[in-house]
Amino acid sequence: MTKTATTVWNECLSFIKDNIKSQAYKTWFEPIKPIKISGDSLTIQVPSKFFYEWLEEHYIKLLRVALVRELGDDAKLIYDVRMENVYSSNTPHTVKIPSSNRNPINSQGITVPLDINKRELKNPFVIPGIQKVKIESQLNPNYNFDSFIEGDSNRLARSASMAVANKPGGTSFNPLLIYGGVGLGKTHLAHAIGVEIKDKYPDKTVLYISSERFTQQFIESVKSNTRNDFIHFYQMIDVLIIDDVQFLSGKTGTQDVFFHIFNHLHQNGKQVIITSDKAPVDMQDIEQRLLSRFKWGLSAELQVPDYETRISILQNKLYRDGVDMPDEIVDYIGKNIKSNVRELEGVLVSMIAQASFNRKEFTLALTKQIVDKFVKNTKREVSIDQIQKVVSSYFDLDVATLQSKTRKRHIVQARQLAMFFAKRMTKASLASIGSQIGKRDHATVLHACKTVNNLTETDKQFRKYVEDLTKKLTY
Ligand code: ADP
Ligand code: MG
Repeated sequence: MTKTATTVWNECLSFIKDNIKSQAYKTWFEPIKPIKISGDSLTIQVPSKFFYEWLEEHYIKLLRVALVRELGDDAKLIYDVRMENVYSSNTPHTVKIPSSNRNPINSQGITVPLDINKRELKNPFVIPGIQKVKIESQLNPNYNFDSFIEGDSNRLARSASMAVANKPGGTSFNPLLIYGGVGLGKTHLAHAIGVEIKDKYPDKTVLYISSERFTQQFIESVKSNTRNDFIHFYQMIDVLIIDDVQFLSGKTGTQDVFFHIFNHLHQNGKQVIITSDKAPVDMQDIEQRLLSRFKWGLSAELQVPDYETRISILQNKLYRDGVDMPDEIVDYIGKNIKSNVRELEGVLVSMIAQASFNRKEFTLALTKQIVDKFVKNTKREVSIDQIQKVVSSYFDLDVATLQSKTRKRHIVQARQLAMFFAKRMTKASLASIGSQIGKRDHATVLHACKTVNNLTETDKQFRKYVEDLTKKLTY
């Protein structure tokens, strides 16, 4: 029976399949194509340099045993590596690399026998431009799964994160996108994934980076003409965590380079984790092709925690800090700080500090003071759109009517109230408020603000409108 590359490789595969986990087999062996057999050397095609590196690093012994079974002691293995060029649109070409060579690469491809007598086969050559360096993960060990309290608001995101941490690159959650408002735990959860992976798979290269730093590094690399090194560096990562990807809005150059890095990692079964303050559909100024990549995996939302979860988070934090606090006080904080876990923690930290500096007990009075300060300082900025919606619905109008040119008294009043609140609650200029609320000029807005102030003082009914609307807009 004549041996063909396919028959030899299939035999190898069935041996390999029995010896490794099926996920690893799928990832690393199924994509390989047998190309050619000549004498006792088999050529296989692999999809990328990284693929080749990975095989050499993790499966060389297994490959060797498999090949020797089929081709005898002098078995040789040659890789045909598809080199994709990320810097230009050059069509991919292939490069031959002999397995575990001792000599530097030579473009012809040199064949060197697999040294089966050597116990440890080291990979002695470095592909130009790529160096395996130890990469600091930039992870915060305190941000782990144990310290991340589960609740209805985060259940999906948390369990998807754990699935990814158990099998980086091996789930359909790739990329995993965690999104949600400020202070809801995106960064914490992203770190937790990295921390867990480092623990379970110490050999994996994990990197946490904020999108801002990523952008800075990229800009630096362009300035110093080391863009290729930048790209190579990121392409070596096994688990890449990019925080606050909304910062890439409008930065086309950085988005472009991220797109290439992302594709490379994804194609090679590497895990990508992204966080953002918005769902993909709401992201602005992010290129469509990048958005569509984000949608490949799973988008999991972190919602505002409910009361029970807020209380557990507080109790857990107190427990960790070894602080005792009366239930009544914990309850007060949990009831009043609603929309942001960071603020919950902030209140606790202030309380502990106050109480210990001034040798004070935790009292409800102190708590109220501190909570008040937090609530005031973090009054969120509402948008003019939101104000128009709230005011319109309060008066049972639609926004178009509110903005229309009509002089009907109750509509004029509603419009003036919208302008008044826009002035009071946003940083927008009079002119910009006017242009957004029915294309009026700045003088009209100024007049509206004066009118509302006057009427609030003289008209009881009107004052009620202002109070009601203030409540609706601040909570
Ligand atoms: P984001 O990145 O979404 O703005 P962070 O991850 O920085 O939010 O979280 C803010 C703070 O709240 C952090 O100190 C984090 O540890 C804490 N936190 C958020 N969610 C939880 C949770 N479910 N359990 C415990 N702590 C949490
Ligand atoms: Mg964050």
